[in-house]
This record gives sequence, C-alpha cells and structure tokens, in this order.
Amino acid sequence: MTTSDWKKAFKQLKMKPIKMKKYIKHNAPKVRKTGLGLKRCKRCGRYGGHISKYGLELCRCCFREVATNIGFKKYS
Ligand SMILES: [Zn+2]
Repeated sequence: MTTSDWKKAFKQLKMKPIKMKKYIKHNAPKVRKTGLGLKRCKRCGRYGGHISKYGLELCRCCFREVATNIGFKKYS
C-alpha cells in the first residue's frame, strides 16, 4: 500500500468506529517537515523527478506534457 491510498480501508471500517480509530492511530503516514516526501507532483502525485524551479512543483513527465501550454519554448 502506498502513502496515497492508506485511506482505502476506511470504506470497510466505516461501520466499526473503534477499529477505525485504531487503524488511523497505527497506519496514518507520519507528518513530514522536510525531505523528499514533501516534494510531490501537484498534477499526478509522483515523488521522483521533481521540478520545483519557477514554482512549477511538477514531475518531469508532467512537465514534458504541459511545458508548451505553460509557455516554455525550449525545455529539452
Ligand atoms: Zn506528475
């Protein structure tokens, strides 16, 4: 299970509030202040290949798709 979908089990646990509480206590992802875990692509959620220059906050794949629409002429 990846960090993006730890809430998938909520659907099952909706009817069991105490089990839900326990699940959240032991399975919620750690709140990060620094590190690569904070640098996610705002478009697709990818962690790798992050471009934060110019405040883009995109991964390399999304950047390639969106670059011309944003106004980049040379990007390769
Ligand atoms: Zn992306």
